[in-house]
Amino acid sequence: MPEGHTLHRLAAQINAVFVGREWKVSSPQGRFSAGAKRLDGGVPQRAEAWGKHLFVHLESEIWHVHLGLYGAFSFRGDSEFSAPPSIGAPRAWVEELTPDYDEVGWLIPEPPRGAVRARVQSRSGWADLRGPTTCTVLKPIEYRTVIGRLGPDPLRHLAQAPGSEAPGPALAGSEETGSGRFLHNLSRRRISIGAALMDQSVIAGVGNIFRAESLFLEGIDPATPSNALSRVQGEALWDRLTEQLRTGVREGLIRTLRAEGERRHWVYQHQGSACLRCGAQISVRELQGRRLYWCPGCQRG
Ligand SMILES: [Zn+2]
Repeated sequence: MPEGHTLHRLAAQINAVFVGREWKVSSPQGRFSAGAKRLDGGVPQRAEAWGKHLFVHLESEIWHVHLGLYGAFSFRGDSEFSAPPSIGAPRAWVEELTPDYDEVGWLIPEPPRGAVRARVQSRSGWADLRGPTTCTVLKPIEYRTVIGRLGPDPLRHLAQAPGSEAPGPALAGSEETGSGRFLHNLSRRRISIGAALMDQSVIAGVGNIFRAESLFLEGIDPATPSNALSRVQGEALWDRLTEQLRTGVREGLIRTLRAEGERRHWVYQHQGSACLRCGAQISVRELQGRRLYWCPGCQRG
């Protein structure tokens, strides 16, 4: 499943190629026809990510997408339309486009391939969304309900251009920092920290890889109850996740092991092999349907 850094890249991409220009929206597959009609012909004003959720704001409508396990956007366009071919689940590479334009100067898109839930199109390119878990249109009050259920997203608490952040109700009028909210959320939960990091109401944007790697690097046993973590541990974990997510946005992939070489992770998917730090055998177990990787030698705290 794409983790938060992927959604922030996606929002930046949509800001770069769609925002401020009229767009056409359709649902070639038909399952999003009514929603597409509400967005079609409008001018997207701002795209943002909050954890694993993407929101694209129009005048009074908000397009809400959650990619889930299989969702992905593919982008195609002419030389004015700079976009990576795909963001989300991996897709096959596509050949270069030979642009052709209609009588009002809009690029003529290729016919949709496969089950395209939503197609958004500008004058110079288009994006196809396939396989999302959520693809819907919200009114502002519904949007506030969705973000009100989400925990702090470390990538939203970085220095941003003024006006680019839209605080939710939980943040509005509050001096509280992201780490403060994270610590508060942990203090109110008895579930293990391994489970809490995947709970999007505790912290938004963390997935299976960042969970395993951050807990390893902080030496925290994933079975530790959330409310038993010390303040210092909680703050260090927040800082670690912030740094990992930020690097993920910059590099477009998750590399937590910074040494040279092919291997990118300390523990994620390295069960059965020797820990690079202590030599103990890396473990794996199922936790709420997802595999949790950790080193029993390093992660005792
Ligand atoms: Zn170890």
